[in-house]
Amino acid sequence: MKYSDLQEESWWHHPESAYDPSLPKEFDAVMIGWLGNKVESIGVISDADLQHLEDLCETRYIDQALLGYHTCEICNKYDDRGEVLLIHEDKYFVVPHMIIHYVKDHKYLPPDEFLSALDQIEA
Ligand SMILES: [Zn+2]
Repeated sequence: MKYSDLQEESWWHHPESAYDPSLPKEFDAVMIGWLGNKVESIGVISDADLQHLEDLCETRYIDQALLGYHTCEICNKYDDRGEVLLIHEDKYFVVPHMIIHYVKDHKYLPPDEFLSALDQIEA
């Protein structure tokens, strides 16, 4: 799946497979990191941001098992599945769990708006 960064989409998931079953099932999402087969925003994030991103992937995971595994379309060598959700103010950022791979191995640089929201999450 490919979406532009900060693109808005109607989104849904199975609350029972989310880290918090009381999350809404449907909501308006802001898409981050749905790269498809190329990285349009390249750069290096700080170690602190990478740590925040890894924490996010661990604590805010939603297993979209029905969608199955997705192979990275950039290198075709990495499989992952599921997504993570960062709720900040009134925004719901929906991010593929594979974002860690994109950042580490393909130098994907997420938008500032997302990185600053990431800085403000509670551990
Ligand atoms: Zn890859």
